[in-house]
Amino acid sequence: MHQKNSPSPAGESSAEPSGLFWVDTHCHLDDVAFGADLAEVLERARSAGVQIMICPGTSAASSQAVVKLSESWPGLYAAVGIHPNAALEASPLDWEQICLLARQPAVVAIGETGLDRYRDFTPWETQLEFLDRHLRLAQELELPVILHCRDAEEELLTALHEAVDRGPLRGIWHAFSADLETAYEATELGLYISFAGSATYRNKKFELLQEAVVCVPDDRLLLETDSPYLVPEPLRGKQQRNEPAHLVLTAQRVADLREQSLEQLADITRANTRRLFDRLCLFCTF
Ligand SMILES: [Zn+2]
Repeated sequence: MHQKNSPSPAGESSAEPSGLFWVDTHCHLDDVAFGADLAEVLERARSAGVQIMICPGTSAASSQAVVKLSESWPGLYAAVGIHPNAALEASPLDWEQICLLARQPAVVAIGETGLDRYRDFTPWETQLEFLDRHLRLAQELELPVILHCRDAEEELLTALHEAVDRGPLRGIWHAFSADLETAYEATELGLYISFAGSATYRNKKFELLQEAVVCVPDDRLLLETDSPYLVPEPLRGKQQRNEPAHLVLTAQRVADLREQSLEQLADITRANTRRLFDRLCLFCTF
């Protein structure tokens, strides 16, 4: 067990602890948005039942930062990687650092990596190369990989097929926003599907996503906030910053769409977390 400096634990004073156990599988708590009040943010998360938070790195510096955070705060765990939008700026030394950090026992996953046609900050060939590196590293270390995808579903699936041809692969398609067929194909390749605040959005372009929310098999379902992004309804537009405590809003929407109780959903996602992030079990029992 590694020692952690505990902030004041969620106790009797915390507002209405839900009694349910939630996991935020994707939140960027190293983001500047959380510089000033991280202790309060984590306290609110615990009060809402969000007991485990997985923080993916987006660059070498960010990966180092999330590893440091994971050593300082209970319930917070790190993944290390270089986001496709940051891959252009990454030096060879940065990648070496990711490979070193990835071998630290406190690191529970590789990522985030993936493909992004929407922002297009990084040339396509560089994105593909970095995705390939992350997939190989995850496979070598037998860690789950955390995948980001915007407007590049076909290409991501192709890369995943190649990886699976090499050997076993586990991971998460984070903030999933594609259709049901894509979700099925991803689960067949060994991935879990994680839904974020976008699952609560009512715009027309999210209709297909809701089909996926309904149909993803129980044993492949996860939840996340993607904090500080993707503020869920009904806070969307009212709050600039998302935070792990808001996971319960997405959970409620997902439970409603799937016609499951919140208790069922909490049990399902907790069991899936335990299965996918097996490194976590070295640090805590849940
Ligand atoms: Zn992210």
